[in-house]
Amino acid sequence: MITLRKDAIARSSFETSFEFPASLIKQYLYCPRIPYFILVFGIRERVTELMKSGKEYHAKKLKKLREEGWETNVFLRSKKYGIYGYVDALKKDENGYTVLEVKDTEYRRNAVKMHLYQAASYALMVEEVFGRVCRIVILYRDKEVEFPFNRGIKRYCVSIINKIKRICENGLVYRPNRVSRCKNCGFFKFCRGL
Ligand code: SF4
Repeated sequence: MITLRKDAIARSSFETSFEFPASLIKQYLYCPRIPYFILVFGIRERVTELMKSGKEYHAKKLKKLREEGWETNVFLRSKKYGIYGYVDALKKDENGYTVLEVKDTEYRRNAVKMHLYQAASYALMVEEVFGRVCRIVILYRDKEVEFPFNRGIKRYCVSIINKIKRICENGLVYRPNRVSRCKNCGFFKFCRGL
């Protein structure tokens, strides 16, 4: 049986300065159990060869974007939402900022939601620190997808941030019915015993 890190729970419950990496938003949308494993148990996902080669692709793409005039790999922290992370790329034009997220995978319809709300969390930070964000671009290996950064996307993104905070306070959620994702989940070995 695994012992809960009570100190982490206490920190999440009582300190207003509780914060977490914005990348957890994508992981929450993959499975709501994952943020709990990371924030409360301190578990890290196993780094695979695929992840390593993805990192190389990511670095090359950011270099190319820099040459095209984008600000890349910008670290931001939001006091308002309690999140932090590196924005892949951002650029300002007359309408506001564009926030760009690089993905080392090909476009898959069922993964877009995770990527969109991860990028939206970066857009929230860009708005807090620099100013209005007008659009989000997700750059896949084979396709570019664009979204306006509208009120609906902002609200839903904030609601996910609040849900992650609540998960840390309320404890581990039940395993979702959608078990098809479990076979590709980096937390499977840990999760199956709980
Ligand atoms: S193994 Fe399945 S239930 Fe457990 S964290 Fe992964 S996706 Fe969620």
